Amino acid sequence: MPGRRVIGVDVGGSKVLAGAVDAGLAVHHRTRLPVRGLDPQLLLQTVQQAVEEAIEHAGGEVIGVGFGIPSMIDRRTGVSRLAINLELGDVPFAALMSERLGLPCVVDNDGNLAALAEHRAGAAVGTDNAIALTIGTGIGGGLILNGRLYRGSIGTAAELGHIVIDADGPPCQGHCPGRGCLEALASGTALEREAVRIGAEHPDSGLGRAVAAGTDPLGPVVSELAWDGDVPALVVLELIGTRLGTACATLANIFNPEVIVIGGGVIAAGERLLAPARAEFARRALPPCADGVRLVPARFGIEAGMLGAAVLALSELDGAPTSA
Ligand SMILES: [Zn+2]
Repeated sequence: MPGRRVIGVDVGGSKVLAGAVDAGLAVHHRTRLPVRGLDPQLLLQTVQQAVEEAIEHAGGEVIGVGFGIPSMIDRRTGVSRLAINLELGDVPFAALMSERLGLPCVVDNDGNLAALAEHRAGAAVGTDNAIALTIGTGIGGGLILNGRLYRGSIGTAAELGHIVIDADGPPCQGHCPGRGCLEALASGTALEREAVRIGAEHPDSGLGRAVAAGTDPLGPVVSELAWDGDVPALVVLELIGTRLGTACATLANIFNPEVIVIGGGVIAAGERLLAPARAEFARRALPPCADGVRLVPARFGIEAGMLGAAVLALSELDGAPTSA
């Protein structure tokens, strides 16, 4: 039907992005609102406001809403069981939003949806087995196995940000009880922490000056400085990239994928991040498992979760399941 739209919504640790999307995945409107530090009621209210704004400017009939949230979702009940970096524990998210918006709503983990978008129309098109890592406040993960999303027994699979790369490493962030997780060591949050440490050691560098000035957010500045050749900024990205490569080696050994797609805000650093990741990956992965595996940037960047939420809504509201 021409003019038919869904709203794809990506609820991140720091912002919510709602897009009005058509069946060809063209985006007709985007609304962004900040959510960092909000309590559950205010968070739901802000998400609702973003969706309502997107509906208002959708330019066509809105038939439903897909949500990607950084939470483990029990697919049997639609309940958000545990979110690492937001207050979304034990919230029946899809039912609540459906009641507030008066539209059919579907929900899935944001990392799963980023993988779905990249597989449907992005950097993993045409592959049977693909892995997506979305690096922002935390690290989201998604698995495409045999051409379909893998969600595990109850729907909470692919928390790839919580594979352990240092058994004695620092405590993980938010509500994760683990330590030494990839998320604790290579997320945007970890990148900023390392940037503050390394910047303070080199006060006369561009990074040192940015740290001394209290630059916030610091992550995008690290990328910009690295592209300008600032050595401490490059050291930060090499450290984070190397840790990513370590995790990618483990993932390749388990899944033998065709491609590992790296997305989220941190991928603005591009090859400054990916080159050290590939080098460490080549050092660590079992050669037959790693043979031909491509480590590539996400096509949809910070919009992958929003577009994946739209794909989920378009598929599931048409009765086409996305799971393996
Ligand atoms: Zn963790």
